[in-house]
Amino acid sequence: MTGQRELPEADAPIIEARRLYKHYGNIRALEEVDLDVPPGVTGLIGANGAGKTTLIRLVLGLIRPTYGEVSVFGKAVEDDPAGLRARIGYMPEGRCLPLDQTAADFVAYAAELAGIPPVEARRRASETLFLVGLHEERFRYLGDFSTGMQQRVKLAQSIVHDPDLVLLDEPASGLDPAGRDQMLELIGRFRRFGMNVLFSSHILDDIERTCDWVVMLDAGQMIHSAPLDPPGESDRVSVEVFGDPGPLVDTLSRRGIDVTMEGAVVTVSSPSDDAFELLRDGLESSGSSVRRLGTSLSRLEDVLLAAARKANG
Ligand code: ATP
Repeated sequence: MTGQRELPEADAPIIEARRLYKHYGNIRALEEVDLDVPPGVTGLIGANGAGKTTLIRLVLGLIRPTYGEVSVFGKAVEDDPAGLRARIGYMPEGRCLPLDQTAADFVAYAAELAGIPPVEARRRASETLFLVGLHEERFRYLGDFSTGMQQRVKLAQSIVHDPDLVLLDEPASGLDPAGRDQMLELIGRFRRFGMNVLFSSHILDDIERTCDWVVMLDAGQMIHSAPLDPPGESDRVSVEVFGDPGPLVDTLSRRGIDVTMEGAVVTVSSPSDDAFELLRDGLESSGSSVRRLGTSLSRLEDVLLAAARKANG
Protein backbone atom coordinates (compact mmCIF):
# COMPACT_ATOMS: atom_id res chain seq x y z
CA MET A 1 0.00 0.00 0.00
CA THR A 2 1.01 3.59 -0.38
CA GLY A 3 1.31 6.39 2.16
CA GLN A 4 1.83 6.35 5.90
CA ARG A 5 1.12 3.03 7.58
CA GLU A 6 -0.31 2.65 11.02
CA LEU A 7 1.27 -0.57 12.16
CA PRO A 8 0.00 -2.37 15.25
CA GLU A 9 2.18 -2.88 18.32
CA ALA A 10 4.54 -5.80 17.75
CA ASP A 11 2.53 -8.43 19.63
CA ALA A 12 -0.95 -6.94 19.39
CA PRO A 13 -3.45 -9.25 17.67
CA ILE A 14 -3.97 -8.34 14.04
CA ILE A 15 -7.48 -9.81 13.97
CA GLU A 16 -9.87 -9.93 16.93
CA ALA A 17 -13.36 -11.39 16.99
CA ARG A 18 -15.68 -10.95 19.95
CA ARG A 19 -18.86 -13.01 20.35
CA LEU A 20 -19.09 -13.22 16.58
CA TYR A 21 -22.15 -14.84 15.01
CA LYS A 22 -23.07 -15.17 11.34
CA HIS A 23 -26.33 -16.81 10.36
CA TYR A 24 -27.62 -17.17 6.80
CA GLY A 25 -31.33 -17.73 7.46
CA ASN A 26 -31.43 -21.00 9.39
CA ILE A 27 -27.79 -21.82 8.67
CA ARG A 28 -25.49 -21.05 11.58
CA ALA A 29 -22.21 -20.45 9.78
CA LEU A 30 -20.43 -19.00 12.85
CA GLU A 31 -21.49 -19.30 16.48
CA GLU A 32 -20.03 -17.17 19.27
CA VAL A 33 -16.48 -17.04 17.94
CA ASP A 34 -13.94 -15.33 20.20
CA LEU A 35 -10.56 -15.09 18.56
CA ASP A 36 -7.21 -13.28 18.64
CA VAL A 37 -4.99 -13.84 15.62
CA PRO A 38 -1.37 -12.79 16.30
CA PRO A 39 1.08 -11.34 13.74
CA GLY A 40 2.75 -13.90 11.47
CA VAL A 41 1.31 -16.73 9.41
CA THR A 42 -1.87 -18.26 10.77
CA GLY A 43 -3.64 -21.30 9.39
CA LEU A 44 -7.42 -21.49 9.49
CA ILE A 45 -8.34 -25.13 9.39
CA GLY A 46 -11.74 -26.79 9.19
CA ALA A 47 -13.79 -29.19 7.12
CA ASN A 48 -15.95 -28.03 4.23
CA GLY A 49 -18.71 -25.80 5.59
CA ALA A 50 -16.90 -25.14 8.90
CA GLY A 51 -17.16 -21.37 8.39
CA LYS A 52 -13.68 -20.47 7.10
CA THR A 53 -14.80 -18.40 4.11
CA THR A 54 -17.47 -16.72 6.22
CA LEU A 55 -14.84 -15.64 8.76
CA ILE A 56 -12.55 -14.33 6.01
CA ARG A 57 -15.41 -12.35 4.43
CA LEU A 58 -16.31 -10.87 7.81
CA VAL A 59 -12.69 -9.79 8.32
CA LEU A 60 -12.82 -8.09 4.92
CA GLY A 61 -16.11 -6.36 5.74
CA LEU A 62 -17.73 -7.94 2.66
CA ILE A 63 -20.53 -9.28 4.88
CA ARG A 64 -21.76 -8.06 8.26
CA PRO A 65 -22.00 -10.12 11.42
CA THR A 66 -25.40 -11.21 12.66
CA TYR A 67 -24.05 -10.31 16.08
CA GLY A 68 -20.67 -9.42 17.56
CA GLU A 69 -17.64 -7.57 16.29
CA VAL A 70 -14.51 -8.13 14.22
CA SER A 71 -11.51 -5.80 14.43
CA VAL A 72 -8.42 -5.65 12.26
CA PHE A 73 -5.33 -3.79 13.47
CA GLY A 74 -7.38 -2.68 16.49
CA LYS A 75 -10.13 -1.06 14.42
CA ALA A 76 -13.70 -2.34 14.14
CA VAL A 77 -14.22 -3.49 10.55
CA GLU A 78 -17.70 -1.98 10.36
CA ASP A 79 -16.36 1.52 11.21
CA ASP A 80 -14.30 1.73 8.01
CA PRO A 81 -14.46 -1.41 5.85
CA ALA A 82 -13.09 0.30 2.72
CA GLY A 83 -10.19 1.89 4.63
CA LEU A 84 -9.23 -1.47 6.13
CA ARG A 85 -9.58 -3.28 2.80
CA ALA A 86 -6.90 -0.97 1.37
CA ARG A 87 -4.50 -2.53 3.89
CA ILE A 88 -5.58 -6.11 3.20
CA GLY A 89 -4.84 -8.43 0.28
CA TYR A 90 -7.42 -11.09 -0.58
CA MET A 91 -7.11 -14.23 -2.62
CA PRO A 92 -10.62 -15.65 -3.03
CA GLU A 93 -11.40 -19.33 -3.41
CA GLY A 94 -12.47 -20.67 -6.80
CA ARG A 95 -12.09 -19.44 -10.33
CA CYS A 96 -12.39 -15.68 -10.60
CA LEU A 97 -9.79 -14.56 -13.16
CA PRO A 98 -10.62 -12.74 -16.42
CA LEU A 99 -9.25 -15.33 -18.87
CA ASP A 100 -8.98 -12.86 -21.76
CA GLN A 101 -6.38 -10.69 -20.00
CA THR A 102 -2.63 -11.17 -19.65
CA ALA A 103 -1.20 -11.81 -16.19
CA ALA A 104 0.68 -8.48 -16.33
CA ASP A 105 -2.44 -6.48 -17.26
CA PHE A 106 -4.58 -8.14 -14.64
CA VAL A 107 -2.13 -7.74 -11.74
CA ALA A 108 -1.39 -4.12 -12.75
CA TYR A 109 -5.14 -3.49 -12.81
CA ALA A 110 -5.44 -4.93 -9.28
CA ALA A 111 -2.66 -2.56 -8.17
CA GLU A 112 -4.45 0.41 -9.74
CA LEU A 113 -7.67 -0.56 -7.97
CA ALA A 114 -5.68 -0.30 -4.72
CA GLY A 115 -4.79 3.30 -5.62
CA ILE A 116 -1.36 2.84 -7.20
CA PRO A 117 -0.66 5.10 -10.25
CA PRO A 118 -0.52 3.26 -13.63
CA VAL A 119 3.24 3.31 -14.29
CA GLU A 120 4.06 2.22 -10.74
CA ALA A 121 1.28 -0.40 -10.97
CA ARG A 122 2.93 -1.99 -14.03
CA ARG A 123 6.32 -2.02 -12.32
CA ARG A 124 4.87 -3.66 -9.22
CA ALA A 125 2.92 -6.18 -11.29
CA SER A 126 6.11 -7.23 -13.01
CA GLU A 127 7.99 -7.55 -9.70
CA THR A 128 5.20 -9.47 -8.03
CA LEU A 129 4.83 -11.89 -10.95
CA PHE A 130 8.57 -12.45 -10.72
CA LEU A 131 8.16 -13.24 -7.01
CA VAL A 132 5.53 -15.91 -7.73
CA GLY A 133 7.61 -17.42 -10.53
CA LEU A 134 5.63 -16.12 -13.53
CA HIS A 135 7.85 -13.40 -14.91
CA GLU A 136 8.49 -15.07 -18.26
CA GLU A 137 4.81 -15.88 -18.68
CA ARG A 138 3.53 -12.44 -17.68
CA PHE A 139 2.39 -11.45 -21.19
CA ARG A 140 0.44 -14.66 -21.76
CA TYR A 141 -3.34 -14.81 -21.48
CA LEU A 142 -4.72 -16.16 -18.21
CA GLY A 143 -6.94 -18.53 -20.18
CA ASP A 144 -3.79 -20.36 -21.32
CA PHE A 145 -2.48 -20.80 -17.77
CA SER A 146 -2.62 -24.07 -15.82
CA THR A 147 -4.60 -24.17 -12.56
CA GLY A 148 -1.36 -23.82 -10.57
CA MET A 149 -0.28 -20.78 -12.58
CA GLN A 150 -3.73 -19.22 -12.18
CA GLN A 151 -3.55 -19.73 -8.42
CA ARG A 152 -0.17 -17.96 -8.41
CA VAL A 153 -1.66 -15.04 -10.35
CA LYS A 154 -4.43 -14.84 -7.76
CA LEU A 155 -1.73 -14.80 -5.10
CA ALA A 156 0.18 -12.06 -6.95
CA GLN A 157 -2.86 -9.77 -7.16
CA SER A 158 -3.38 -10.19 -3.40
CA ILE A 159 0.09 -8.85 -2.52
CA VAL A 160 0.79 -6.37 -5.33
CA HIS A 161 -0.21 -3.36 -3.22
CA ASP A 162 2.07 -4.48 -0.36
CA PRO A 163 -0.73 -5.01 2.16
CA ASP A 164 -0.29 -5.28 5.93
CA LEU A 165 -2.39 -8.47 6.02
CA VAL A 166 -3.06 -11.09 3.34
CA LEU A 167 -6.10 -13.36 3.48
CA LEU A 168 -5.80 -16.49 1.35
CA ASP A 169 -8.88 -18.67 0.98
CA GLU A 170 -7.83 -22.26 0.20
CA PRO A 171 -4.79 -21.18 -1.88
CA ALA A 172 -3.65 -24.76 -2.49
CA SER A 173 -7.09 -26.08 -3.39
CA GLY A 174 -7.29 -28.06 -6.64
CA LEU A 175 -3.51 -28.12 -7.17
CA ASP A 176 -1.47 -31.22 -8.03
CA PRO A 177 1.34 -32.14 -5.57
CA ALA A 178 3.94 -30.03 -7.41
CA GLY A 179 1.63 -27.00 -7.59
CA ARG A 180 0.73 -27.46 -3.94
CA ASP A 181 4.42 -27.54 -2.97
CA GLN A 182 5.08 -24.36 -4.96
CA MET A 183 2.17 -22.58 -3.30
CA LEU A 184 3.26 -23.64 0.20
CA GLU A 185 6.84 -22.66 -0.58
CA LEU A 186 5.61 -19.17 -1.55
CA ILE A 187 3.59 -18.84 1.65
CA GLY A 188 6.68 -20.01 3.56
CA ARG A 189 8.61 -17.23 1.85
CA PHE A 190 5.99 -14.69 3.01
CA ARG A 191 6.59 -16.00 6.51
CA ARG A 192 10.32 -15.36 6.18
CA PHE A 193 9.56 -11.82 4.92
CA GLY A 194 7.59 -11.24 8.15
CA MET A 195 4.24 -10.81 6.38
CA ASN A 196 0.93 -11.23 8.21
CA VAL A 197 -1.06 -13.99 6.53
CA LEU A 198 -4.26 -15.82 7.38
CA PHE A 199 -4.81 -18.78 5.10
CA SER A 200 -7.53 -21.38 5.11
CA SER A 201 -7.15 -25.02 4.30
CA HIS A 202 -8.80 -28.30 5.11
CA ILE A 203 -5.43 -30.08 4.92
CA LEU A 204 -3.49 -30.36 8.19
CA ASP A 205 -0.15 -30.92 6.53
CA ASP A 206 -0.36 -27.58 4.66
CA ILE A 207 -0.89 -25.74 7.93
CA GLU A 208 1.87 -27.61 9.78
CA ARG A 209 4.37 -26.86 7.04
CA THR A 210 3.79 -23.14 6.85
CA CYS A 211 2.17 -21.61 9.94
CA ASP A 212 3.18 -20.08 13.27
CA TRP A 213 -0.34 -20.28 14.65
CA VAL A 214 -3.41 -22.39 13.97
CA VAL A 215 -7.11 -21.72 14.41
CA MET A 216 -9.58 -24.55 14.00
CA LEU A 217 -13.24 -24.10 13.18
CA ASP A 218 -15.70 -26.94 13.50
CA ALA A 219 -19.34 -26.47 12.43
CA GLY A 220 -19.09 -22.72 12.98
CA GLN A 221 -17.38 -22.92 16.37
CA MET A 222 -13.79 -22.00 17.15
CA ILE A 223 -12.45 -25.07 18.92
CA HIS A 224 -8.70 -24.44 18.96
CA SER A 225 -6.37 -21.45 18.65
CA ALA A 226 -2.72 -21.97 19.56
CA PRO A 227 0.89 -21.63 18.38
CA LEU A 228 2.63 -24.29 16.34
CA ASP A 229 6.20 -25.31 17.07
CA PRO A 230 8.58 -24.76 14.18
CA PRO A 231 9.59 -28.24 13.02
CA GLY A 232 12.76 -29.48 14.69
CA GLU A 233 12.92 -26.66 17.22
CA SER A 234 10.79 -28.24 19.91
CA ASP A 235 12.02 -28.48 23.46
CA ARG A 236 8.96 -30.54 24.21
CA VAL A 237 8.23 -34.19 24.27
CA SER A 238 4.83 -35.81 24.30
CA VAL A 239 3.45 -39.16 25.26
CA GLU A 240 0.22 -41.06 25.10
CA VAL A 241 -0.01 -43.74 27.79
CA PHE A 242 -2.17 -46.82 28.17
CA GLY A 243 -4.99 -46.10 30.61
CA ASP A 244 -5.34 -43.04 32.82
CA PRO A 245 -2.66 -40.34 32.23
CA GLY A 246 -3.62 -38.72 35.59
CA PRO A 247 -0.88 -40.36 37.75
CA LEU A 248 1.81 -39.32 35.24
CA VAL A 249 0.56 -35.71 35.15
CA ASP A 250 0.41 -35.64 38.99
CA THR A 251 3.94 -37.02 39.32
CA LEU A 252 5.37 -34.50 36.86
CA SER A 253 3.44 -31.57 38.36
CA ARG A 254 4.65 -32.47 41.89
CA ARG A 255 8.21 -32.18 40.57
CA GLY A 256 7.49 -28.65 39.32
CA ILE A 257 7.73 -29.72 35.66
CA ASP A 258 5.75 -27.79 33.06
CA VAL A 259 3.21 -30.36 31.88
CA THR A 260 0.01 -30.06 29.86
CA MET A 261 -2.66 -32.55 28.85
CA GLU A 262 -4.76 -32.33 25.64
CA GLY A 263 -7.08 -35.31 25.40
CA ALA A 264 -4.86 -38.35 25.95
CA VAL A 265 -1.63 -36.57 24.99
CA VAL A 266 0.64 -35.43 27.83
CA THR A 267 3.34 -32.92 26.91
CA VAL A 268 6.39 -31.92 28.93
CA SER A 269 8.13 -28.64 28.12
CA SER A 270 11.55 -27.79 29.40
CA PRO A 271 13.70 -25.13 27.77
CA SER A 272 16.65 -25.87 30.14
CA ASP A 273 16.57 -29.60 31.02
CA ASP A 274 16.19 -32.56 28.73
CA ALA A 275 12.41 -32.88 28.42
CA PHE A 276 12.77 -36.50 27.35
CA GLU A 277 14.68 -37.45 30.55
CA LEU A 278 12.14 -35.68 32.75
CA LEU A 279 9.32 -37.54 31.04
CA ARG A 280 11.08 -40.90 31.20
CA ASP A 281 11.63 -40.51 34.99
CA GLY A 282 7.99 -39.49 35.40
CA LEU A 283 6.80 -42.53 33.46
CA GLU A 284 8.91 -44.83 35.62
CA SER A 285 7.77 -43.29 38.93
CA SER A 286 4.08 -43.27 38.01
CA GLY A 287 4.18 -46.81 36.58
CA SER A 288 2.61 -45.62 33.32
CA SER A 289 3.26 -47.53 30.13
CA VAL A 290 3.76 -45.85 26.81
CA ARG A 291 1.42 -46.17 23.86
CA ARG A 292 3.16 -43.53 21.73
CA LEU A 293 6.07 -41.21 22.42
CA GLY A 294 7.82 -38.53 20.43
CA THR A 295 8.90 -34.93 20.12
CA SER A 296 6.07 -34.24 17.74
CA LEU A 297 3.21 -36.16 19.29
CA SER A 298 1.71 -32.78 19.99
CA ARG A 299 1.55 -32.48 16.22
CA LEU A 300 -1.44 -30.70 14.91
CA GLU A 301 -3.42 -33.81 14.16
CA ASP A 302 -3.30 -35.01 17.76
CA VAL A 303 -4.12 -31.61 19.15
CA LEU A 304 -6.95 -31.05 16.72
CA LEU A 305 -8.45 -34.49 17.18
CA ALA A 306 -8.38 -33.95 20.93
CA ALA A 307 -10.00 -30.53 20.52
CA ALA A 308 -12.68 -31.91 18.21
CA ARG A 309 -13.40 -34.80 20.62
CA LYS A 310 -13.75 -32.31 23.49
CA ALA A 311 -16.04 -30.02 21.45
CA ASN A 312 -18.26 -32.93 20.43
CA GLY A 313 -18.48 -34.16 24.02
P1 ATP B 1 -15.53 -24.66 2.22
O1 ATP B 1 -14.21 -25.24 2.59
O2 ATP B 1 -16.47 -25.67 1.64
O3 ATP B 1 -15.44 -23.40 1.41
P2 ATP B 1 -16.00 -23.09 4.62
O4 ATP B 1 -15.37 -23.63 5.87
O5 ATP B 1 -15.32 -21.99 3.93
O6 ATP B 1 -16.26 -24.29 3.63
P3 ATP B 1 -18.34 -21.41 4.56
O7 ATP B 1 -18.27 -21.23 3.09
O8 ATP B 1 -18.00 -20.26 5.44
O9 ATP B 1 -17.48 -22.67 5.03
O10 ATP B 1 -19.81 -21.91 4.90
C1 ATP B 1 -20.28 -22.13 6.23
C2 ATP B 1 -21.76 -22.53 6.15
O11 ATP B 1 -22.53 -21.40 5.71
C3 ATP B 1 -22.03 -23.64 5.15
O12 ATP B 1 -23.09 -24.44 5.67
C4 ATP B 1 -22.47 -22.91 3.90
O13 ATP B 1 -23.34 -23.71 3.13
C5 ATP B 1 -23.22 -21.72 4.50
N1 ATP B 1 -23.16 -20.52 3.65
C6 ATP B 1 -22.05 -19.86 3.27
N2 ATP B 1 -22.37 -18.77 2.53
C7 ATP B 1 -23.73 -18.76 2.45
C8 ATP B 1 -24.67 -17.88 1.83
N3 ATP B 1 -24.28 -16.79 1.15
N4 ATP B 1 -25.98 -18.19 1.96
C9 ATP B 1 -26.39 -19.26 2.65
N5 ATP B 1 -25.55 -20.13 3.27
C10 ATP B 1 -24.23 -19.88 3.17
